[in-house]
Amino acid sequence: MQMNMENQFPIFDGHNDTLQMFYVADRKRDRSFFEKSSKGHIDLPRAIEGGLGGGLFSIFAPSKMKIKNNPGSDLSNTKTSYALPMVPPLDFGVALDHTLKGMAGLFRLEAESEGKIKVVSDVDELEACLKAGILAVVLHIEGADTIDTDLDCLSVFYRAGLRALALSWSRDNAFAHGVPYRFPHSPDVGPGLTDLGRSLVKACNDLGIMLDVSHLNEKGFWDIEKLTDSPIVATHSGVHALCPSSRNLTDKQLDGIKASNGLVGVNFHVAFLREDGHRDENTPITEIVRHMDYIAERIGIDHVAFGSDFDGATMPKDLKDTAGLPKLMDALRNSGYDDGALAKLTHQNWLRIFRETWK
Ligand code: ZN
Repeated sequence: MQMNMENQFPIFDGHNDTLQMFYVADRKRDRSFFEKSSKGHIDLPRAIEGGLGGGLFSIFAPSKMKIKNNPGSDLSNTKTSYALPMVPPLDFGVALDHTLKGMAGLFRLEAESEGKIKVVSDVDELEACLKAGILAVVLHIEGADTIDTDLDCLSVFYRAGLRALALSWSRDNAFAHGVPYRFPHSPDVGPGLTDLGRSLVKACNDLGIMLDVSHLNEKGFWDIEKLTDSPIVATHSGVHALCPSSRNLTDKQLDGIKASNGLVGVNFHVAFLREDGHRDENTPITEIVRHMDYIAERIGIDHVAFGSDFDGATMPKDLKDTAGLPKLMDALRNSGYDDGALAKLTHQNWLRIFRETWK
């Protein structure tokens, strides 16, 4: 059944870690992207079932060291508060090796898909894929640890399709300082961008690469806000006023995003949604709606979208995975979002950002 052909609301999602599930060398590939599985959150059959039309597919080089008590890796974490140390910097060579593996894996996936998946770097092409029911993948790198200080890698990655970059993934590198995982805690941890980081912002502006602030600390956020000439985007974050995690955005940051005509992709990770910060999958889907409502009310419906963090986070049990997205659509409808608002939330806002950013 070609469900997507009729789909008025194809969902473009701001963040997933699916490439890590399939193409990280030290993780066993125990499922195929083309077969429906009950493992993880995204595969092609479940994407079609749930109405996922595309998304920013992230490549993220993990740290060698296991992070103890990381709320992102320990299911038993229901502590009221935690303050994890900053993850140590990652060696450039290790990060680059990982990135190349992820990119090669993505291109192989596209080649094996018989036209069902397309890596896109052009907005018209992206829009056409959403209409035709072809899964549109935008290449996103989460953490500039994998970019050399001469920015040679940036030029090469751009030609390979890179259209979104997070300067930091909750880790310090040559360009920026990340925000460590803490609750309850302000995102204001550590200094702003380095001089190299400022050059990288300019280089991304010149090439038309979208800048993602989701794992950046607050000083870095404001440095980007001062420097950038394109919209500021948090691909997968929540509202700090509703869930005071260091990974979420303060009201002031939300206002800064609005001023830049930017966008927030709301993260579905339960620990970034809940008031108590617990990593408890018994969290209602309406918690996602609560964050979307807050952003829409404060800065407008044009500045909020989906940023699931599928395959990288703990989803509300009722949502479960990509196939559960229609339940979120129902919850949004029940909360009063009409067709026009749903079109913006699901894909129009992302398309606008890319039109304003990509060259
Ligand atoms: Zn992330």
